[in-house]
Amino acid sequence: MNATVRIDAMPRFASALKAIESLKPSEPLYLVQPEKFAAAAKTFLTDFPGDVLYALKANPHPVAIEQLWKSGIRHFDTASLGEIEIVKSLYPDAICHFMAPVRLPGQAKAAFEQHGVTDYVVDSEAELAKLLAETGNPKKLRIFVRLVASLGGALLEMSSKYGCRPEEAAKLLHKVKASGAAPCLTFHVGSQCLSPFSYAQAIEIAQRTITMAGVEIAALDIGGGFPTSYAGQEAPPYHWYFDMIKEALSNMERPSLPVMCEPGRALVAQGISLVTQVVMRRGDRLYINDGIYGSFDEQRFAGFDEDYPATGITLDAKGKAKTLTGEKRPFRVYGPTCDSADVLPRPALLPDSIANGDFVLFDAMGAYTVSSRSSFNGYYPDAWAMIGD
Ligand SMILES: *Cc1c(COP(=O)(O)O)cnc(C)c1O
Repeated sequence: MNATVRIDAMPRFASALKAIESLKPSEPLYLVQPEKFAAAAKTFLTDFPGDVLYALKANPHPVAIEQLWKSGIRHFDTASLGEIEIVKSLYPDAICHFMAPVRLPGQAKAAFEQHGVTDYVVDSEAELAKLLAETGNPKKLRIFVRLVASLGGALLEMSSKYGCRPEEAAKLLHKVKASGAAPCLTFHVGSQCLSPFSYAQAIEIAQRTITMAGVEIAALDIGGGFPTSYAGQEAPPYHWYFDMIKEALSNMERPSLPVMCEPGRALVAQGISLVTQVVMRRGDRLYINDGIYGSFDEQRFAGFDEDYPATGITLDAKGKAKTLTGEKRPFRVYGPTCDSADVLPRPALLPDSIANGDFVLFDAMGAYTVSSRSSFNGYYPDAWAMIGD
């Protein structure tokens, strides 16, 4: 289902409490916080020593793209023709990079011919051959060979699906060079990577691959995976990552190699909060209006044991929104669909006084929430408001 909400029609409030007070939302309500988008973009644009590509799959909603564009992001890591079309329809000058190593037939051709996309990823000879046949002008391309980087630092691994070992990558680099395209390397350490060292290790593997191949590469793309802070899980500060990455790059044979990164989660997670309503409380069970098939989809992943920070909010007798205080207890939180799997995997700690009609505000809900919601059972969270000026 496509986003239906116009950004310029989103109501604007000074705070989450004001939004709740005014709208008394009975449907899940996304709260967009522009200054948090701006802060995240600034961190990367200022401190990362190369191009910063926003990985669109973390949140392809126009409001997220707009916030990042306004904050200076101009490059996009897009993994399908559909994602390229979303970005280009909003910002024709945006620079898209087609960074999926397995593309549907015809998509590279359309990306190259209709949208001027010149960066592509491959991790197999078959995909390289397909890419070259579809685009037909290798001199214009930079082709990134994807390395495996299963280094154990990330909560969500991706190397079982994509990437090749250094020996295989070295062979592919030769083939890319022989084609006339500019050979490059990339890896993705996995998502919510809590270990800055994983990037340094992967950069070392990239250097070994370059040495083994004896091919000079034109760029190194170190992927995404930068974490964000969730409830009870403070992510290491980004400068630890950037320092570690810069040091690893300085140890490469060509320290001046152009680099790129592809953060998704880190650019959008903190910029959106979600207001849900308690439809029914039954003892220590809360039935709320959003769940696993809506904004909480990522919680179904076994390795992902992070929780969104939750706050209880009530409307007092005068209709003013107040943060609930008092002793907290764990609640089982159920979503609105009839599926018994629609329950958050871990209990939420909320004030014991929370009651029917109260609200639960979840923070850090900008990444892998909006992007993977479904309309299963007739529920589709899609109400929006802006917070701040
Ligand atoms: C998903 C993905 C990203 C973004 O990952 P985050 O963990 O959100 O930063 C970047 N690059 C590739 C290749 C991806 O698949």
